[in-house]
Amino acid sequence: MLARELPLSTGFAFDAKDQVRTANDIVDVVGSYLQLRRQGRSYVGLCPWHDDTRPSMQVNQERQTYKCWVCNEGGDVFSFVMRKEGIEFREALELLADRAGISLTPTRSGGASDATGSNNKKTLYDAMAWAQRQYHECLLNADIAEPARQYLEERGISGHSMARYSLGFAPGGWHWLLDRAKSTPYSTGVLQAVGLAGISTRTGKPFDFFRGRIMFPICDTQARTIAFGARILPELADNRSGKYVNSTETRLFSKSDQLYGLNIAQDRLSAQRREAGAISNVLVVEGYTDVIMVNQHGVENVVALLGTALGSRHIRLLRRYADRITLVLDGDAAGQKRVGEILELFVAEQMDLRIATLPENMDPCDFIQQRGPEALQQLTSNATDALAYKVRVETANIDIHRNLHAANQALENILKTIASAPRLQANTTTELRLREQQMLNRLSREFRIQEDEIRQRLTVLRRSNTQRSVTRLPDPEFTTPNTRIDAWEQELLEILVQQPELIAVAAKSIRLEQLQDDTTKKIYAMFCQFHENGVIPQFDRMLTHLEQPALKHLLVDLDERSRLKAEKATEDPVTRLTGLIQSFHHRKEEHERRQTSAALQDESKTEQEKIELLQQLYEKKRDRQCNFASTDG
Ligand SMILES: [Zn+2]
Repeated sequence: MLARELPLSTGFAFDAKDQVRTANDIVDVVGSYLQLRRQGRSYVGLCPWHDDTRPSMQVNQERQTYKCWVCNEGGDVFSFVMRKEGIEFREALELLADRAGISLTPTRSGGASDATGSNNKKTLYDAMAWAQRQYHECLLNADIAEPARQYLEERGISGHSMARYSLGFAPGGWHWLLDRAKSTPYSTGVLQAVGLAGISTRTGKPFDFFRGRIMFPICDTQARTIAFGARILPELADNRSGKYVNSTETRLFSKSDQLYGLNIAQDRLSAQRREAGAISNVLVVEGYTDVIMVNQHGVENVVALLGTALGSRHIRLLRRYADRITLVLDGDAAGQKRVGEILELFVAEQMDLRIATLPENMDPCDFIQQRGPEALQQLTSNATDALAYKVRVETANIDIHRNLHAANQALENILKTIASAPRLQANTTTELRLREQQMLNRLSREFRIQEDEIRQRLTVLRRSNTQRSVTRLPDPEFTTPNTRIDAWEQELLEILVQQPELIAVAAKSIRLEQLQDDTTKKIYAMFCQFHENGVIPQFDRMLTHLEQPALKHLLVDLDERSRLKAEKATEDPVTRLTGLIQSFHHRKEEHERRQTSAALQDESKTEQEKIELLQQLYEKKRDRQCNFASTDG
C-alpha cells in the first residue's frame, strides 16, 4: 500500500487520513475556533498566534489550507487542530474523525510497539474510561460503597448528579482495581501510566493509587476521562493523606490545562453564546462538589480549578467557550490573597475577568443550598472586574483622600501588579492599550491623581522589571525548519506544487543528492516516490500524506508563494523548469570541475590517475548533455 512505502508517515493508512480530511472542511473547523469572514476567494480571521488586529489569518478553502504571513504559521486542518489543541497528529486525526462521525480502524502498523501499550494514547484513554466505569458501578451497586452513598446523600448530591458527573467509589485495600484489570487488556504498566497504580518503593509491587475514596472523573472537552479527583471518606481519613487528591500528571493530564466540569458546562456556554446579544459567562469555583451542587440547582455554566490557581492556560481554554469569566471566591482570607495574581491575568489576557465574593464562611455549595440559584445569579451578575476588586482590597481600611501616604502605597501596589503582568509583545494591540488607558483613567479618578502621573509611575515600574517580561518564541515544531531555503530548490518545489505532473521531467534530470536543504530534500523525495509509484503527486495528496506540521507548513508556504508568483510570471511552468534544470546542471558541473581541479593539483596523484579523472569529467558531461537534449525535445 502506498502509505506504507512512503517515508514520513507514522503508519496511518493514507485512505483514513484522506477520508477524515475530506470530511472536515477547513473553513468549518477553523471557523469553530475563530470568527472567519469571506474576503475575495479566501476567508480571513484574527490569527490566534500573534496579537492580531488586521486580520492576518487566511484560510484557503479551495486548497484546504491556512496561512498567517505575520507569524509565519501555516498548514492544513490537521496542523491547525494540532497547534490549537496542543496535541499530536494521532489525536488530531481522532478528534477530526470523531467530529465527522468517522470510526477509525487501527492499521496494522499504527499500533503501539511496546508490550504494555503504555505508549499508546488510545489505550490510555480506554483504560481511564474502563476504570471510570468500574468506580461508577461500584458506587451505584456494591455493598462496600454504602458509606460513600450515604456521604453523598448527606451532602445533598442527587442520583441524577451522580450519573451526570459519573461519580464513583474506589474501595479500600490495595488491589481492588488491579485485580479487576487482570481480565482486561490493561497491564499494570498502562494503569501506572495513567496514574491509577503506583509501585511500592519498599516491595517493588504495584498497588491501587486511589483507596477508600469518592471518585470525581476529570474529563477533557471531548468528555474523555483523563484523570480523577478523589475525596477520602470521612471515616477513613487519617492525617497522612490529603482530604482531596488528584491524579498525578500523566500523558493525558496536566492540571494547569484542565478544568473540572467543563465537558458539561460547555454545552450551556455554547447555548448562551448563540442567544442573540447574550454574554456567555463561566463561573469558576474551587471545589468539585461546588460544581455539582451548583449545577444541580440549575446553574450549568460552572467549572472548578484542579487545586491550582487560575492561570493563563485556563483562560485561553475558557475563552473558546465564554466571553466572561467570573471567579467565585469563598469569603475567607485565602481567597483574598489571590487577587494580585488574578489582576495580573486580567491585565495580560484579553478577557473580561470578574470576581464575586461569597459571604464570610460560605462556599458556593452552602450558598446555593441556603439561598437558591437566583441569589447566586444575582451575586455573580454584580461581580466586579479584577481591577476594581484589587482597588477595593488595597484601600479597604484607609481613607484615600485623607491619608495620602497610605493611598500612595495602595496605588503603588496596584501599579506594581499591573506592571508585572506579562506583556506578550512590546507593541501590544490597540485593544490592550485601550484597556490599559481605561484602567489608568479609573485609577486617576479613584485616587484623584493626574492620569499622566500614574502612567509615568507605571512606565518606571515596568522598566525596572523588564527582565521578567515574556517574549514568545516560535514553537520549533510548527515553524518552517529553514525559512531561507536555497532559491533554486524553492523554485523547483514551487513548480511541482503548481504542476505536479512535471515531476516526470524533473525526476529524470534532478537527483535528490543535488538538493542541499534537508527539508526541501524530504519534500522532493516524496514527489519522486509518488512518481515512482505511478501516482501524480497532487498537492492535497502530498499534504495528506505528510504528518509533521513543519513539512505541511513548508508545502503550504510553497503553494501560496507559487500562486503569487504565477500571477506575475511571464514564463509558463515548463519553461521555468527547463531553465531550472539547466541551472542545476551547471551547478553540478561547476562542483565537479572544482573537485577535479583540486584533485589535479594533488601532488600525491600519478599522471595516469589525473588523466582518468579528466576523462571521467568529460564523459559525465557528455552523458548529461545527451540526457538533457532528450528531455528538452
Ligand atoms: Zn499570526
